[in-house]
Amino acid sequence: MLSVIVCCYNEAKVLPVFHRRLIAVLKTLSIRYELLYVNDGSRDDSLALLSRFCQTPGVRCLNLSRNFGKEAAMVAGIDHARGDAVLFIDADLQDPPELIPLMVHHWLSGRDIVNMQRRSRVSDTSGKRISAYLYYKLMGFLADKFEVPPDVSDFRLIGPAPLAALRAMPERTRFMKGLISWLGFNTLEVPYDREPRNAGQTKWGPLALVDLGIEGVLALSRKPLRWFSLLSLLIFISTLAFIIQQFSVETLSTHHFILGVAAFIALGTAMIGEYLGATLSEVRQRPIYLLNSQFGEMPRQSGKPGTTPSREQETT
Ligand code: UDP
Ligand code: MG
Repeated sequence: MLSVIVCCYNEAKVLPVFHRRLIAVLKTLSIRYELLYVNDGSRDDSLALLSRFCQTPGVRCLNLSRNFGKEAAMVAGIDHARGDAVLFIDADLQDPPELIPLMVHHWLSGRDIVNMQRRSRVSDTSGKRISAYLYYKLMGFLADKFEVPPDVSDFRLIGPAPLAALRAMPERTRFMKGLISWLGFNTLEVPYDREPRNAGQTKWGPLALVDLGIEGVLALSRKPLRWFSLLSLLIFISTLAFIIQQFSVETLSTHHFILGVAAFIALGTAMIGEYLGATLSEVRQRPIYLLNSQFGEMPRQSGKPGTTPSREQETT
């Protein structure tokens, strides 16, 4: 069975047409499926729409207690999916549901992970294109002994073995792109054309993207700390050489030099702070998300599927 997971945050404008298109495609699959929506604290009519969708058997919804962010919403989906494999798709129709049968075909032919990879970024602004290019270069540099494929979106199918591995991961900070690459397994990248958003707005402003980028680096690699240690050593040696040289000519004017070193130290301290912050969120062991309610066809539910939302408080 395949669990199709859809994370939604304020997607009321697009959800009706998305749901219709998705269900039409899922009905053509040769395997069993369930559709699992994760409402990530939407403030519009998304929840009302989702509860209506859940009146159809095989459609369920997890309603998070607030907006936790897409990465956390995906973890909620993974935790509650009942399928052997999961497939993530965005609600805004940027990922065409019509490609799902192809992804399932690759899974059934033996692939563990099927990543959909953007063929081009022509629809992006040049700023986003350049930053994405640089970011994937940096990722490639940071990742040790594994590759982070560029331009891979969250539109992917994860088979039973990597799914079990993901569920067993104890860490709080989830950077799905990096984690999936780290897992390894038999992975296939399938090129596709990402459509423009059907309706509504993107939830990722430039600052949110920078934030996601930093989280990714922190989750993936300790290399920046090592680079900083090596650079510090280099600066220490050159400082020593500089001071000895200045003493010998008796013109010790170190203002600019000290300023440079201070800026360098400030940068290093900030970086250590970031890693410490990431460690703190692991140590705190707070749940990644909180569930407010879940509805749709649930286990142990005796009534008809999807009638009233159950309010089982659940901490994950
Ligand atoms: N999303 C979410 N929680 C968030 C932000 C986004 O569940 O805090 C969902 C959103 O509803 C959509 C998907 O994640 O289904 C991708 O978001 P978006 O289209 O805004 O990202 P973009 O495609 O612009 O990168
Ligand atoms: Mg989108």
